[in-house]
Amino acid sequence: MHILIAMMNHETNTFSPVRTDLDRFALRAGEALLKGEQAVAAYTGTGTGVGAFIEVAQAAGATFDIAVCAHAQPSGPVEDAAFEAMCAEIVGALERQPYDAIFLDLHGAMVTQTHEDGEGELLRRVRAVAPKTPLAVAYDMHANIHADMVELADTVAGYQTYPHIDMHGTALRAGRSLMRMMKAEVTPTTAWGRAPMIPHVMRQGSDDEPNRSLQARAREMEAQGALCASVFVGFPHADITQAGLSAVVVTDNDPALAARWRDELLAMAWSQREAFLYQLEPLATSVSKARDLKPEGPGPIVLLDHYDNAASGGTMDTTAVLAEVMRQGLDNVAVFAVFDPAAVQAAIQAGVGAAVSLSVGGKLPMPQVPHTSEAVTLNGTVKTISLGRFKAKGPMSPGASMDMGQAVVIDTGRIEVVLISRHIEPFDANALFSVGIDPMQKRFIVLKSRIHWRAGLGRLAAATIECAGAGVCTSDYGDLVFKNLRRPIFPLDTALEWSPHDGV
Ligand SMILES: [Zn+2]
Repeated sequence: MHILIAMMNHETNTFSPVRTDLDRFALRAGEALLKGEQAVAAYTGTGTGVGAFIEVAQAAGATFDIAVCAHAQPSGPVEDAAFEAMCAEIVGALERQPYDAIFLDLHGAMVTQTHEDGEGELLRRVRAVAPKTPLAVAYDMHANIHADMVELADTVAGYQTYPHIDMHGTALRAGRSLMRMMKAEVTPTTAWGRAPMIPHVMRQGSDDEPNRSLQARAREMEAQGALCASVFVGFPHADITQAGLSAVVVTDNDPALAARWRDELLAMAWSQREAFLYQLEPLATSVSKARDLKPEGPGPIVLLDHYDNAASGGTMDTTAVLAEVMRQGLDNVAVFAVFDPAAVQAAIQAGVGAAVSLSVGGKLPMPQVPHTSEAVTLNGTVKTISLGRFKAKGPMSPGASMDMGQAVVIDTGRIEVVLISRHIEPFDANALFSVGIDPMQKRFIVLKSRIHWRAGLGRLAAATIECAGAGVCTSDYGDLVFKNLRRPIFPLDTALEWSPHDGV
């Protein structure tokens, strides 16, 4: 048995001004996309989707090829040239030789300049050359599901955790169920559907209600016989027709049961729609709350700069939260991070220990949101200079190679600010340790993150304060102008009656 494995991952924030070219999909800036033996070496034994697909293939005694491993941090629409290049790697591999099965690790919220369902377009092209080849797909929980993304695959599984600590497990669910199909043990049959709702990302964490119960019920369905059951909370910062929540259930030759379970999950999510709403608080109030907190336990107070999360398409260079922290005089603070390659280079030129005055952040205009970001002047010393590469500790993507580009830490005396040259979300403790910051020695940590930081740093935090700063990941839907999203949809349209029997 010969299997084709490929990864093409991007969550597209259509409101983001951050460019998404082919280089962004490379493991490191300036390098070619990872494929073949290089990709096998990079992903074997890692807690990633591709790592799991490799395991499934090896367990079946199959040989495999990796067509491409392309992963970019979330940003604006994928440039057509980049999309074409990635599709060509996958479709080209299928044209060169036949495969017995295809495993795809996709995100599910990719929007290209031309296609609102990048993954659906990829699958249409795959099916044009391999119409019957057994095909399994693993998607992110933030997938915005379109018909072809499900209907052109034999098995589909989505993450059941957020933070996403089950990327590996999800690909195992998709890959193993496909293997059972190929051994004629099961006959997958799929039902999928959407609910007209766009849950707020800040309320999607799977350790919190209502998503905890939704995901638990999906796992229970798998324990009760579903091959894969997935609730996709969706990615709302995408002005496309089909953004929002959906459910996909794959059963063994029982379409009625798949439909019943799909409807149960959708009805459950819809009944909890109010619990997915996010309540805003003024930034100055949040920062003063943090300043005055007296936590009992050890560990830092985490201030979440959640409007500017790189893992949702943020420019990562807005400064509203940093400026407010400086204005209110918080002390012993670490900030991860401000994206500013020019400031990084200036600090490197100055050298370790040099006194510098740097104007950081606020460089990329955000024309699609009513926010501005001014540069902030940092007067301090260059504490560390780093290549910006590390391996993730986990539990999210353990063993995966991470690259924040060249990075420096500027120490103002009160605040240590990490400046980076490539977007990265601080979901792993090694993001801080690798630049010489021990989070346990800080009273406050400002993180440009929403939920994923909990994976690597959550257990260290003494308290968490959510700070509404500025950015294209705004948690205020009032900041976003939706022109393409289907309507009515909750919570943009509140007086809305719906049941799964109304269809998608
Ligand atoms: Zn996600």
